[in-house]
Amino acid sequence: MSSSRSARLRYLVPAFATAAFAAGAMPAMAHVGGHGDPSTVPVDDTMPTTDPAAEHEEPHFAYEGASGPENWGELADEWATCGEGTEQSPIDLAGAVEAPDIELPDIVFDYRPSAVSILNNGHTIQAVYDEGSSITLGDTAYQLLQFHFHAHSEHTIDGETQPLEVHFVHQAQDDSLAVVGVLIDEGEANPAFDAVLENLPAEESEEPVVVEGATIDAATMLPADQTFFHYDGSLTTPPCSEGVSWQVMTTPITMSAEQIARFTVLYENDARPTQPVGDRELEISG
Ligand SMILES: [Zn+2]
Repeated sequence: MSSSRSARLRYLVPAFATAAFAAGAMPAMAHVGGHGDPSTVPVDDTMPTTDPAAEHEEPHFAYEGASGPENWGELADEWATCGEGTEQSPIDLAGAVEAPDIELPDIVFDYRPSAVSILNNGHTIQAVYDEGSSITLGDTAYQLLQFHFHAHSEHTIDGETQPLEVHFVHQAQDDSLAVVGVLIDEGEANPAFDAVLENLPAEESEEPVVVEGATIDAATMLPADQTFFHYDGSLTTPPCSEGVSWQVMTTPITMSAEQIARFTVLYENDARPTQPVGDRELEISG
């Protein structure tokens, strides 16, 4: 990646997207990783500090209390979309209508194994994925950047939550984002996640922890039934930027209670409440 592309990416796309590129390709950063959290916007000392995010201490957000989700939009000017946006995520997925195949093509997954690089960014645990894995939605390819967890699930079905949800975050060449969400129910142990779950960094840090010698394969983390809900939404953390293409698999995967607890002992609650659907189309693949 050229430095000019790096600089452009850093300032135009949500921090959580640039973070994964940064982990592999960007030398100068204040934070690695993040999940829509402007505190992780990288600092580029070669650019003038015209970016307001670089000029003051970033506000803190949380999942309860005065800094909780109902107040995110007031915590910072650049987070206003969290309060004022009309196409926010997550949502309740009940009421989806089946879309014609031609309008909602299948997700074409091209996931490859990756080294294991795990970041505790203070809001979630994020596995930074190696370059070279992607999904294709219609004519658009999106590269897999990272995946991370929420407890409990952020998306609900008829108000029902699952213990966890994993978000696979992808970015297209035009910087637009597509997320694949997979709900995680308690059940059979899931060895696909062991290399991550057995190495969760307990402490927040700026640099990911690399698990030497281990690999993961996101292809093995997906449910066998790849029917999915689709809607247009947002990041589920500040700055809550809209224009994110959401795909949430209808079928949960499972993890054992012990596996789930490895995450929830660190992050008991990092789920934004569901947001109004408004007049958005909520589709289910055929
Ligand atoms: Zn997420």
